Amino acid sequence: MKKCVFLDRDGTINKYKELLSKKEDLELEETAAAAIKRINDNGYLCIVLTNQPVIARNLCTFDDVLEINEELKRMLYKANRAYLDDVFICPHHPDRGYPEENEEFKVECECRKPKIGMIKEAQKKYEIDLSGSYLIGDTTIDVQTGKNAGLKTILLNTGLKGTDKKFEVRPDLYAENLIGAVELILKEGE
Ligand SMILES: [Zn+2]
Repeated sequence: MKKCVFLDRDGTINKYKELLSKKEDLELEETAAAAIKRINDNGYLCIVLTNQPVIARNLCTFDDVLEINEELKRMLYKANRAYLDDVFICPHHPDRGYPEENEEFKVECECRKPKIGMIKEAQKKYEIDLSGSYLIGDTTIDVQTGKNAGLKTILLNTGLKGTDKKFEVRPDLYAENLIGAVELILKEGE
């Protein structure tokens, strides 16, 4: 059984921009590439879980999001030879009523965080030991997702810094940035 560090994308790996829908808008968080390299070098899988309502809102297509993720991977590799083992995307959004919406993706799904569909899929694909794994993110949605899946959770002081306040939930640990979070994980693993 493998251990995994699950990461949120926007506000965790790349700088938070509202409804990011162009690869030109990608900018790495300062410590992200070094942090992911540390995850890679210490025997943990590194898997991204990202809600991308921009697809349901018709601000971009699913293929555009795949391309943004590829660009992000290129940036991480170029910066520090860091790599992501996989990226899981939820393209759905449950609330109808936006003028530009894409009906196909306007559904209640099992993958949109804080639901754990993406984690279950990853667990099956990679045989992950969830109890020894972590979820790192910048919102209370991420923390709630981790709790729902039985993961240890770390909330960052980057991106939205937990100010979304969607859930009354406390993370297991707090960290200033992604490298700070990874150092905490490696310390706990010693
Ligand atoms: Zn979904």
